[in-house]
Amino acid sequence: MTALYKRDQAAIANLQKLRFFPLAVTGGRGARLTEENGRELIDLSGAWGAASLGYGHPALVEAISGAAANPAGASVLSAANGPAAALAEKLLTAFPGSGDNKVWFGHSGSDANEAVFRAVTKATGRSGVIAFVGAYHGCTVGSMAFSGHSVQAGATKADGLLLLPYPDPYRPYHDDPTGGAILAELRERLEAAPERFAVAFIEPIQSDGGLIVPPTGFFKAFSAICREFNVLVVCDEVKVGLGRSGRLHCFEHEDFVPDILTIGKGLGGGLPLSAAIGPARILDCASAFAMQTLHGNPISTAAGLAVLETIERDELAQEAERKGKLLRDGLARLAERYQLIGDIRGRGLACGVDLVLDRQTRAPARAEAAKLIYRAYELGLVVYCVGMNANVLEMTPPLTVADTDIVQALNVLDRAFAEVSDVPDTVVSQFAGW
Ligand code: PMP
Repeated sequence: MTALYKRDQAAIANLQKLRFFPLAVTGGRGARLTEENGRELIDLSGAWGAASLGYGHPALVEAISGAAANPAGASVLSAANGPAAALAEKLLTAFPGSGDNKVWFGHSGSDANEAVFRAVTKATGRSGVIAFVGAYHGCTVGSMAFSGHSVQAGATKADGLLLLPYPDPYRPYHDDPTGGAILAELRERLEAAPERFAVAFIEPIQSDGGLIVPPTGFFKAFSAICREFNVLVVCDEVKVGLGRSGRLHCFEHEDFVPDILTIGKGLGGGLPLSAAIGPARILDCASAFAMQTLHGNPISTAAGLAVLETIERDELAQEAERKGKLLRDGLARLAERYQLIGDIRGRGLACGVDLVLDRQTRAPARAEAAKLIYRAYELGLVVYCVGMNANVLEMTPPLTVADTDIVQALNVLDRAFAEVSDVPDTVVSQFAGW
């Protein structure tokens, strides 16, 4: 444990930490982080997907320093500013919606989802909300109220919440890998209360719930049913949006367009920035009161603009597709040798490795996942785990990650899998984890 880590332990609240090992960072470049002693690690997590362009990307540095040197005011709260307007226009052009859309800016995925929830329920006068078991939509009281992840089991849930099972092809609900039983349940619940539900929150890949890729066609069918009952569909792409999945928007993999899109994390490339894009009749609903002092500030939005322009210019969505294949092909080779690997899934550079105790029963290997990521850290690789049982390795590296870094990360993982049984049990309980 380095001196920096000890200072952090003494001075910074655990309330905002999710630690699996004693990582203490002094700088970063590309997909690499540097520790106090000069050791470099490959960040295969991209700090949970936020470092979309990697660390220290020149376009981001230039945009942020330019905006900070001559800031156009403080935010959109009381004045228009150029970077916010330009970013909103760019996001609207990229969203294949109806044309009557607008953009709301926030600081995090949590506040974007909460703002949408509040605006939709206020604007429609309906209070019901549909979401999925395993969904993580944020950590504010509002966003936790319609999340379904086990880490938030103690949170107060919205009165009108309906949580449906997520369509998981690897551990299918009612043995139906197409998710048909879930769609039948949705229809039944909507028919029983046709005026009740305002909104359904979906994740096109369930991220913190275990990097689960739904069966093809599921969300197209799901949104068609929602439309029949005037339920707005909100697609939460906070983790898997903006090129990460191999397309600019992850919903493009399916043949449907949501009513509202929420994005965050990678949008700011490391700065706090999120956005909701959706119908003006919903997002203009000022009485829902989702306005904070620094919303749409010109420094964060200048960063967002640089991120989008770089994704476009450097074709990072296509790159994510190619590099994701490189990563998954390598993982598939590891799966031939390590029984612990039950399933490899994902799209582009959103990749999950489901660790199991037994390939037949698919029982989650929780302790082994904690040990594996600890050993990987010791060997120079940052990767975390997600899932209701914290047994799924999640890989969301910068879209700019070098091919050589992917190859090196796979070599580290190879060694970590080989040595996982040597890691002491104390590692499992020592850190907060999920
Ligand atoms: N939605 C999704 C899909 C997420 O993965 C997360 C964070 N893991 C959030 C919302 C919340 O975002 P934030 O932590 O920026 O508030």
